[in-house]
Parts: sequence; structure tokens; C-alpha cells
Amino acid sequence: MDTRTKADELVSINPADGSEVGRVAITTPLELDAIVARGQAAFRNSGWKELMPHKRAEVLHAIANGLLAEKEPLATLQMRDNGKPIAECRGMVDYAVGAFRYYASVCETLETDVTPRRGDYVSFTVLEPYGVVAAINPWNSPIMNDAAKVAPALAAGNAVILKPSEDAPLLAPELARIAAAAGLPDGLLQVVQGRGAEVGAALVAHKGVGMISFTGGTTTGRVIGRVAGERIVPVALELGGKSPHVVFADADLDHAVAAVAAGIFGSSGQSCVAGSRLLVEESVHDEVVARLVDRAKRIVLAAPDAKGVEMGPLASFHHRERVHAFVEGARAEGGRVLCGGSAPEGEDYGAGAYYLPTVIDGLPHDAVSCQDEAFGPVLVVLPFKNEADLVEMANGTDFGLACGIWTENFKKAWRTGRALEAGSVWINTYKQSVTSTPFGGFKDSGIGREKGIDGLRLYAQVKSMFFGLQENPLPIAK
Ligand code: NAD
Repeated sequence: MDTRTKADELVSINPADGSEVGRVAITTPLELDAIVARGQAAFRNSGWKELMPHKRAEVLHAIANGLLAEKEPLATLQMRDNGKPIAECRGMVDYAVGAFRYYASVCETLETDVTPRRGDYVSFTVLEPYGVVAAINPWNSPIMNDAAKVAPALAAGNAVILKPSEDAPLLAPELARIAAAAGLPDGLLQVVQGRGAEVGAALVAHKGVGMISFTGGTTTGRVIGRVAGERIVPVALELGGKSPHVVFADADLDHAVAAVAAGIFGSSGQSCVAGSRLLVEESVHDEVVARLVDRAKRIVLAAPDAKGVEMGPLASFHHRERVHAFVEGARAEGGRVLCGGSAPEGEDYGAGAYYLPTVIDGLPHDAVSCQDEAFGPVLVVLPFKNEADLVEMANGTDFGLACGIWTENFKKAWRTGRALEAGSVWINTYKQSVTSTPFGGFKDSGIGREKGIDGLRLYAQVKSMFFGLQENPLPIAK
């Protein structure tokens, strides 16, 4: 979706046709203070953090049920808010349901440690919530990213203030509404709306916020990381990527080509883990590229609710301008655009923010367009000679979010998977992102791990407790 900011509201525009979807009021500084105070009060007084974990789990299950009951309207709203194909939007609601169920289970089964005794005491750890967590998300997968933060943060006993992107503001209030209806105590999940540099910046700087969980671009992540460092509050950063998708000559090329196409053109490339650099072994380079270009040209680019749609529009008209500028930059660097490289022509596309699947080759791997994230359906192709050459190129960016490796040789897959600097390694598959497996970046792709059991620990601090067992008074010196 696209939003145009009026004085005090965000207007959501459907990127498929330019129509208005809805409006939300921008949170004022005074309202932000009141929201943080309400979150703190709910954290201290609602009894949520003292609730037995299995009782908190009941509420999380009820939220999951509430989401599931509204799957179709939520998916449709997300489709109109940011233009993703309806099947993907349904999948994201399913993901959100699964996240609440998973963290309900983790919440009631998570164990802490009894630590080895070294004296007359019993020592063990407990987990304590941070208080008010600021959860800040980008526009590409709202309901899914929201659940990925809100479910574990609540499970750990925190209050959450969720700030969706100004470019996709409509799903977060729905999640808060459903959570309230499911019985979540008042004030434990609140939403603020507005631009990052204003409302987002004020939220992370607010004294009443005890932990920051951010997903978005690396540039913003650095700014937030600096603020968190100054304030000495923990911060989790899920940032950008330029993930290498590696095809060795011995790969099953049918599967590899399909996965490379899905990895970059799924979600119109607006995915942090998009496989945006194809690294292909020289001996199969021409064949793989020819098949890929053929597949790219046959992708069904259509309205997000059209039958058989594979790729919808980009999420906003201004994002399409950014993606096109990226492609122009690649051309200026000497890249050859093998397909795409522009908006599609034809009356079906005129009113929407569509962009053609684009494949570019002929660039050196240190070209800006091989280093920077396009966050669109743009793939750069880089041939490699051998494993050493591959590893050097694959690791030769500042990012380290994910990678894919296609080979039938399991030892080579193991070696390469261990050598690549990435938080997620997909071998003979791609873009599997599940709520039960940790996810996060190496290098400039982030700090911390969401999802999995680590995803709950992210929102809790360890407290060590000692129960004295000594029979005599403690001596001053021993
Ligand atoms: P962005 O960094 O511009 O904005 C993300 C969020 O941060 C928005 O809500 C924005 O309003 C807010 N924000 C911006 N400046 C802020 C500030 N100074 N203080 C506090 N909040 C601020 O990113 P985007 O354009 O919305 O999303 C695209 C980026 O997100 C891409 O780089 C993509 O790779 C990344 N992303 C990462 C993941 C992941 O899990 N690693 C997932 C999805 C998207």
C-alpha cells in the first residue's frame, strides 16, 4: 500500500489500483506519553506477569482463535494495505495464529535452570519481563511480523506498544482489537501510528520503554541501536539482507531454478530474506540464467486477488520509484538487464504499482547493485569458478541474513553452509521461515534471534536467586 500523510493522519492507498483503503490518526507526543504510562500501569498492576504461565497461555490461545476466526477479512485487509497476493496474506494470518499458539506452548513449558551449588544455598534462575516493549515493524508483512514480536513478548509477561510502518498501518489495530476481545488485560497491547523519524524515534527514546524490538532497514537499525546504547536498554534488530542463492553444477536444476525464482520474485522481492544474488557455477551459468529468465517472463503478474496470480504490485508507488532507481543504478554500473527493468505496460497495470521481474548480469560483485538491498523483484547474477571463489563472493557484503545452497553433494552442502556468514542456511530449499526455529542476522543484518524458544527469551531478563541453607550466621570473613 501507499500512504499519503495528511496533517494528522495516514491514508492507506491500495497499490493494486490507487484507491483509498483506510485512515489512521497519527499519535501525538502527548498521546504517546499517555500510552507508555498506560502500558507501564498495565505491566505493574494487571496481574499479567504474575499469572501462571499456563493461564497466560490460555489468553494467547484465545488470541490465536480470534485471528483464525477473522482469517479472511484480515487477509483481505492486508492484501489491500500492501498489495500482497491473497494466498500469501492468508499464509501470513496462518503464521500469526501459529505464532500465538507456539508461544502459548513455550510459555507454559519453558524451564529455567537450577544452577550447580557452590555453597550452602540452592541457586536457580527465573525469567523476568522487561516492562514495556516497543515493537517496531516494517511494511512488508504486517500481521506476520506483528505476531512474531507480540506473541513472545506477551508470553514473557511484558506489555507491548506496537508501531507498524506508516506504509502499512491497518493490521496492527486489528491485532490489538482481537487481543482485547480475547481477554488480554487492558493496556498490555497498544498501537501507536506515525512516521518513523517522529513517532518511532519518540517511542524508542521514551524513558518508560524497557526493551526495543525492531525489524526494518539497516540504516534505521543503526539509529535505534545508538539510542538503545545510550539508554542502556536491550535491543533486538532484524535488519536487511542481500542473500546469496548458490547453485552448484551438480544441483537438481529444475528445483534450483524454481527456488531461485520463488526466492526473489515471491512477495515481489519485498522480503528481507529474498535471494537477491544468484551465485551460479560457471559450467551451468548459461543454462540456469536462460531458464530463469524464461521463468521470470512467464510469471503471472496481476492483481493480488486475480486467479493464478504469482506476483502482485509493489507495496507502494513511492517504493516502485525506489526499486526502479536501483535498476537504473545497476544499468549505470554496466549491468545488462536480461528481463524486466521497468513497469509493465497495458491497461491491467496502469493504476497499480506493478514492476516486472528483473534479472541483471554482467556486474562485478563489488558493484553497488550487488551489495545493496533493492527490496524488490530484482536479481543480480554472479558466476563463480570454485568453492573458494564462491565463499569469498557470498560473504563479500555487509549483510548476513540468509542464504540458499543447491547441490546434490551433502558434504559440499555442509562445508558451504558452515562457511557462509548467514543467520539462516537453506540447503536444497529456500525461504523456510517457521515460528519454531530461531531467525536473525549475522553482520549488518541484525542482533538477536526471534522465533523459537530464543524468541521468548529475547523478551525476558535472567534473575539469579539463592535460597540460603546455612545453619550458622554468615561470617564477615571466610
Ligand atoms: P524502515 O527501517 O524504513 O522502517 C521500519 C520501521 O521503523 C517503520 O515502522 C518505521 O516507521 C520505523 N522507523 C523509521 N525510522 C525510525 C526511527 N528513527 N526510530 C524508530 N523507528 C523508526 O524499513 P522499511 O522500509 O519499513 O522496511 C524495509 C526494510 O525492512 C528492509 O531493509 C528489509 O530487509 C527489512 N526487513 C527485515 C526483516 C528481518 O526480519 N530481518 C523482515 C522484514 C523487513
